Amino acid sequence: MATPQKADIDAARLWDDLIALGTITEPGKPYTRRSFTPLFQEGRDFLRGRLEAAGLAVRIDAAGNLIGRLEGSEPGLPAIAMGSHSDTVPAGGRFDGIAGVIAAIEVARAIRESGTLLRHPVEVIDCLAEEPSAFGLSCIGSRGMVAKLDDAMLAMTDADGRVLADALRAVGGDPERIAEAQRDDLAAFLELHIEQGPVLEAERIPIGVVTAIVGIRRIEIRFEGQAAHAGTAPMHLRRDAAYAGALTLARIRERAEALAAAGEGYFVATVGIMEVWPGGSNVVPGRCRIVVDIRSSDPALTDRFAAGLDADSRAAADMAKVERAEFAILSDGVPAVCDPLLRETIRDAADACGQAAIDIASGAGHDAAFMAAVCPAAMIFIPCLRGMSHTPEEYSTPEELAAGTAVLLETVLRLDERLD
Ligand SMILES: [Zn+2]
Repeated sequence: MATPQKADIDAARLWDDLIALGTITEPGKPYTRRSFTPLFQEGRDFLRGRLEAAGLAVRIDAAGNLIGRLEGSEPGLPAIAMGSHSDTVPAGGRFDGIAGVIAAIEVARAIRESGTLLRHPVEVIDCLAEEPSAFGLSCIGSRGMVAKLDDAMLAMTDADGRVLADALRAVGGDPERIAEAQRDDLAAFLELHIEQGPVLEAERIPIGVVTAIVGIRRIEIRFEGQAAHAGTAPMHLRRDAAYAGALTLARIRERAEALAAAGEGYFVATVGIMEVWPGGSNVVPGRCRIVVDIRSSDPALTDRFAAGLDADSRAAADMAKVERAEFAILSDGVPAVCDPLLRETIRDAADACGQAAIDIASGAGHDAAFMAAVCPAAMIFIPCLRGMSHTPEEYSTPEELAAGTAVLLETVLRLDERLD
């Protein structure tokens, strides 16, 4: 029997696979491979081929996740899983999600080729539909693995009236047995991902150890005033709803800057929707609606901010002599904290690979945030060009991808010794 070699990744093969998957795209709209489309299926066929060639046992679970598995030497031990997603947004990039799936395949391949037999099984998971799908739902596969894909979600429809449950069947899932997708047999979930932000590149640090994946709360505020003629309504008699919206927007910015600077945790707030009615250049707006997107690593910060927003928007309404007609929470997700032991292991692995690492919070949502509900989960960020993501210009260098993948491999090898 040949002595096992030290497992090592093949940077050229890793890069070639990533680029090859990127060629499977809508021709006029790179890089588009949306979940549940024929192109998505083509991408999955490519991934399945790579997994099988690497000697992994491949299956699709009830929630439509593509899973490759390498058995370990100690029967009954839970699996160390790695993965991300292979679907893209329309006109997205070649790296978001994809880098994590391809890196996971390379790690499994390197382990197998080296002849190393780990104690734990190793799994590569391509989570189904992480990006918002045509059904309006995101993270479908990872929701399924943590028992958060319910009947109401499975009944959601797309613009053509197609039902999600049927689309799930078409990719090999089984909505009737969705409970079987739930995982209680994982020792860890590791997701490598591009940062989708500018910090690592600016600091010239190759590895980000994710501390937490933010929780997102969305609040809708509506002001009702009185539409009036822009020429004849005197300033002191106006009930301008847009004025209240603008006053609130300014306070949101001030409060968010103060909270972010306080250093108690990651905090950002954005008003990406601001609508005024009726929307004429010669009409004082009678109604204004804003939607606030609040993201933080700590729910207490979000609560504090929301309380301030409540007071500010009331004060703004008074100032503008309008009514604050609505203050509603549209959605509210709690942050997912990355596992301390996994984070420490990633740091040690980065050290061993000669790669500098810093702690960083994730301002974007990820499959790992869901997976954290069923097992210890953690993320490795790699730098990306100017922080760009969800655009064809999305880019990390072959060296950055290889460095992150080497750290992922080293992390798996170390966890195999540390975990039971
Ligand atoms: Zn992603």
